[in-house]
Amino acid sequence: MSTHAQIIDFSNAVAAELGDEAITLGDDVRHRYGEHTLPGPDVLPGAVAYPDSTQAVQTLIRLANQFRVQLYPISNGQNIGLGTRSPIVPGQVVVDLGRRMNRILDVDEKLGYCVIEPGVSFRTMHDELKRRDSKLMISPTAGPSQGSILANALDKGGGSGAYADHFGMICGMEIVLGNGDIIRTGDGSLAGDTHPNWHVSKYSFGPTLDGLFSQSNFGIVTRVGMWLMPRPPHIEPFFFTFPDDGDVAEVIERIRPLKLSNFVPTLIRATNDLYLLASVATNPEYAASNGTRSLSDEGRAALRRQHGLGSWTVSGALYGASRAALMPQIERISNHFLASGKGRQIPLEEAETIAPLHIATNSNTGVPTDSELKMLGWRPGGGAIWLSAGSPVVGSTVNDFQTEARRICHAHGLEYLLSNVCGARFARSVHSIIYNRENPDETARADACYRALSECFASRGVFVGRAPTMYQSFHQAQRMPEFTRACSAIKAALDPNGVIAPGKYGIM
Ligand SMILES: Cc1cc2nc3c(=O)[nH]c(=O)nc-3n(C[C@H](O)[C@H](O)[C@H](O)COP(=O)(O)OP(=O)(O)OC[C@H]3O[C@@H](n4cnc5c(N)ncnc54)[C@H](O)[C@@H]3O)c2cc1C
Repeated sequence: MSTHAQIIDFSNAVAAELGDEAITLGDDVRHRYGEHTLPGPDVLPGAVAYPDSTQAVQTLIRLANQFRVQLYPISNGQNIGLGTRSPIVPGQVVVDLGRRMNRILDVDEKLGYCVIEPGVSFRTMHDELKRRDSKLMISPTAGPSQGSILANALDKGGGSGAYADHFGMICGMEIVLGNGDIIRTGDGSLAGDTHPNWHVSKYSFGPTLDGLFSQSNFGIVTRVGMWLMPRPPHIEPFFFTFPDDGDVAEVIERIRPLKLSNFVPTLIRATNDLYLLASVATNPEYAASNGTRSLSDEGRAALRRQHGLGSWTVSGALYGASRAALMPQIERISNHFLASGKGRQIPLEEAETIAPLHIATNSNTGVPTDSELKMLGWRPGGGAIWLSAGSPVVGSTVNDFQTEARRICHAHGLEYLLSNVCGARFARSVHSIIYNRENPDETARADACYRALSECFASRGVFVGRAPTMYQSFHQAQRMPEFTRACSAIKAALDPNGVIAPGKYGIM
């Protein structure tokens, strides 16, 4: 941990080499960057740096090594529910790459990829493709439209459409390591300046190092190539809804064959009532219990009726030449989901009148939206924690997990908000814990709820995916010690003085 004097010396040296605009120690700025929505105190950085190039990042790393200062990289810092912009421990210098490194360096229309800096957001890329009248589309998340495409991919984010595996769509990276070296991965590692295959070939000579830089602290990524999908002539979203909590078992069984065969090219989401409704409603019973009880089943059913939704809603989309051309496929999917007589199809015209479903329609058609952020208002006080567990795409397993996780949330006086994001074999189960951060009792319950859910999943052999900053060491301690030792050995090799965010993802 650096002292105040080290931070001041570092800051003076940065200003001397990169200019005054490259760093600030201002209290108001540090307070803003220290804010988050998790159940712990704000985490104030020692300073905030704003590099404008890969070389400037290299200078920051050289000076951090010289003055033994720790850096915490962010791109656009929209990581709400996972730590927002705050560092892993107080005093680390936040390196805000998004402010000045936000250029779209290339869009290759023919080969379907772009080359971007950390600050390029989903919104910027969407708008730029539109401006160019491009035939390519982005794969937005349901999260903030200002979030960075690069950072979301490094955090193994998931979007919409056939290119939803965002880390999987990265091809070719440039990274500044903790020891100050700049490396290019894949075909970019060939000495010289011309690399026609850097952003089109993943399997170059030698080891594939790219994975080392996702959810880690081994380097600061300064640019990536990202594959983009050609926009199909027509995209047809579909929705089905099922009345009862236990119906998720049937829903998941019906999703699996559609994904295994790739009959449906997009991820298919099976989302519960409150996850959807929280983006358009506030908890109607919050005041009555002062937030100590979870919403009653009757209250939940009333909200569902009001918005025409069941306990679980399925969403996805098909690609084809035209709406008419896709109708036979929509009919086949409809017969498939409605075979047991329990579900109901929500025709697209009706879905357009149900506000919470607009998020899926927008995302699946490549349009970023901020609507899901309204979920943070479900309870007052602005507290939010994401817990991302997961399950094989097997109905009985998902149902078993939802029953237990729902019980845990209710036992902590909180609501159960869940979206199962299903691929062919694995469903990421995204839990959103919304609580009143201004109420200490509720904050303590939210923290206990996160830990109880994590321990429950771990006891069944299920690990988390992404994790909020304040729980990253907790999760690292859950895994086999040999893995942790391997991470520490890589850290020592690539960042011997530990200048890049020690503690991030539990790696020291
Ligand atoms: C309501 C809501 C819904 C959401 N829905 C989704 C969803 O559907 N799918 C999904 O995937 N996400 C979702 N998210 C998460 C979120 O939107 C994004 O993952 C996020 O915005 C990432 O971009 P960022 O610029 O905010 O990242 P940052 O906060 O800048 O960084 C995120 C992480 O990456 C690291 N990092 C950033 N830049 C670099 C770099 N250049 N080098 C090394 N490490 C770096 C940071 O240290 C941090 O650990 C949602 C969030 C909210 C609030």
